[in-house]
Amino acid sequence: MGKDFSLGGEPVPSGTRRLIELQLPPLYINTPLTLPVHVLRGAKDGPCLFVSAGLHGDELNGTEIIRRLLKQPALKRLRGTLVAVPIVNVYGLIHHSRYLPDRRDLNRSFPGSERGSLAARIAHLFMTEIVQKCTHGIDLHTGAIHRTNLPQIRANLDDPETSKLAESFGVPVLLNSNLRDGSLREAAAEQGIPMLLYEAGEALRFDEVSIRAGVKGIIRVMRGLDMLPKSRARRQQTSEPFVARSSIWVRASASGLFRKVGTLGARVKRGELLGLIDDPVGGEEFQVTASATGIIIGCSQIPLVHEGEALFHIARFEDVKGAAGQVESFQTELAPEEAPANTMQDEPPIV
Ligand SMILES: [Zn+2]
Repeated sequence: MGKDFSLGGEPVPSGTRRLIELQLPPLYINTPLTLPVHVLRGAKDGPCLFVSAGLHGDELNGTEIIRRLLKQPALKRLRGTLVAVPIVNVYGLIHHSRYLPDRRDLNRSFPGSERGSLAARIAHLFMTEIVQKCTHGIDLHTGAIHRTNLPQIRANLDDPETSKLAESFGVPVLLNSNLRDGSLREAAAEQGIPMLLYEAGEALRFDEVSIRAGVKGIIRVMRGLDMLPKSRARRQQTSEPFVARSSIWVRASASGLFRKVGTLGARVKRGELLGLIDDPVGGEEFQVTASATGIIIGCSQIPLVHEGEALFHIARFEDVKGAAGQVESFQTELAPEEAPANTMQDEPPIV
């Protein structure tokens, strides 16, 4: 007999799977709104992992990652509890927006409060109903609008348990970050719950490599936590992740039309040409060069820039060559065989 688990006052017995809808403040046209949460309970007790997506309403890769995750046949052998929240900021999703209708960023509003702003109330609901009932967490994000990120894990790697989770996720780039910014990750850490933030792809777009890497990473974390049996397939290549020493932004030196030369995942040397900015009226041309040697882990996708805007995010490593090699094999391994052909099909099960 497993431990009791309930969500929104509804009990979820061991060995069952339920979709629970938590009440949210309705839309102002009196349309009811809920926060859908999938709860999967194994027959045996074990860790309780939450996986959340769409804290920023326009970040869609994570929602697709959760959809595919929930179809994995391996979950029949689950030990412990998986709590999956495919869209946290439902208000933002409706408007294709990162923010809530009160223009607040939900991921800067944690831990929230019962009587605070709309953002604070949702943050509070999420903390009390989801986070505080779990032992571990993974929050799925993408780059902002018109910005794409190489699949990467951001976590407090100084904490040994979090660092172990981060390594088991299996993406080549790990960033150590310990921000105090009102984020879900900070609030979870204060409750002693190790949490990863997965960043991959771009807002309002699906990115196949990022989605596949996300599903695979969550399964690997669950295996690492003994929530799923170890893979029966030939020993999986365990590629060692590289922890970035630091990261810097390369910003536009002028306003104009931006032609990108550097690509996501590429290894660049300090001083190397990354792009050109053309003044469409005066005809002047400005060079954008790498201000550090490292790997491009994020870049702007839109050819319109204002002076000072961030164009490239470069991560610096002790062993840049090793990290670049790992990034390349990771991208090749997860790339779809023929670009658009199979995007409408479900990915084959990972286990
Ligand atoms: Zn985000």
